[in-house]
Amino acid sequence: MSKPTEESIRCSFCGREKKEVNVLIAGITGHICDSCITQAHSIVKEEGGVKSKDEIEKTLKLLTPKEIVQNLSLHVIGQDEAKKVLSVAVYNHYKRLLQKNKTKDNIEIEKSNIIMVGETGTGKTLLAKSIADLLNVPFCIADATVLTEAGYVGEDVESILSRLLQAADYDVQSAQRGIVFIDEIDKVARKSDNPSITRDVSGEGVQQAMLKLLEGAQVNVPPQGGRKHPEQKMIQIDTKNILFICGGAFDGISKIIERRVKSQSIGFSTIPGEEFNNEIMLSHVNQLDVKKYGLIPELIGRFPVLTYLHPLNKETLLSILTDPQNALTKQYIKLFEMDDINLIIKKEVLEFIVDKAILLNLGARGLRSICEAILTDSMFNAPDKDIKELIIDLSYAEKQFSKSKVSKLKVA
Ligand code: ADP
Repeated sequence: MSKPTEESIRCSFCGREKKEVNVLIAGITGHICDSCITQAHSIVKEEGGVKSKDEIEKTLKLLTPKEIVQNLSLHVIGQDEAKKVLSVAVYNHYKRLLQKNKTKDNIEIEKSNIIMVGETGTGKTLLAKSIADLLNVPFCIADATVLTEAGYVGEDVESILSRLLQAADYDVQSAQRGIVFIDEIDKVARKSDNPSITRDVSGEGVQQAMLKLLEGAQVNVPPQGGRKHPEQKMIQIDTKNILFICGGAFDGISKIIERRVKSQSIGFSTIPGEEFNNEIMLSHVNQLDVKKYGLIPELIGRFPVLTYLHPLNKETLLSILTDPQNALTKQYIKLFEMDDINLIIKKEVLEFIVDKAILLNLGARGLRSICEAILTDSMFNAPDKDIKELIIDLSYAEKQFSKSKVSKLKVA
């Protein structure tokens, strides 16, 4: 066999001669050129992408609703009704996701987007975030109040998906199975139940714009967020399998529920005392009430699951302070432990913290700032002191709190 000449050496894949390519690598029985290597690399990468899709399905652990509630309870105190409704909705959602095709009998499981009604600071965001963590899917929070319909000042609704994409490290497949939490949905309610003649840019327009995301459409998303820009390369995201959870305080909705319940139900007389009670009313909330509040029927139709969260009472706040896996007191104990100091916070101090949070109307969010007010001096001084134990009692807590900025807040 004659030795191959310079001309006869070709890429065994595309057939190009040595002089037509930049690099030609020799194998045992053939050659490959640089452009074929590049092309082959992208094929391998794509195949890898398909594999990662399977991997997502594996990591998407299908827990039963009871297991979901058990896990949620490690982080979220109380709110049993919301946990139950959410766990079933999420369970069904991910079952739907794992269902490869329609079943033989042509049943297609529909999405179970969720609306949560409850005062601010009662755990809506925490619930949504804990579920995403549990299922190991990307999660992002968007604020409905900063959204506008296309063409107006503010963020386009697509920016929500940019954030989800960022949370998924730009892995489109994984983003397409994520959870989006849209906060303050009540703030984009239209001003009256009647469709207005004039356009309502801030409210109804945003709701209309959101429909596009909720419909399960292919949406062009600017990867870096911000306004759509003609030169910016868009990434297409299919929203079919993204779970949307909305939260809102819906201030004053109890009155709407009361009116409806009283006007239509004989069963209402079974409510103890029959007098108006915010919390009991909230437990009767349904789609009609949020429509009356100003969410448009098309939007409500895409949120088939509706649940509510209780306002936090003293007992729940105390539990929030000490019980969750990542409870505030546990965090402070850990911080002192790192300086070899055993921190003991007396029970009466915990009650004092909760009472102040309620008095100042700060809810669970306020617990942290009150703790900081009480403990900052100790955290500043303790590392230089040779102590093994630090006991925080009521008189110390009161003294520290009274000189703090939080104590100067006006009672709301
Ligand atoms: P929302 O979204 O309802 O306004 P968040 O979920 O953001 O409220 O709650 C604010 C903070 O308060 C959380 O980070 C958490 O520390 C605490 N919190 C509120 N409700 C609960 C709860 N039910 N269990 C545990 N922590 C809670």
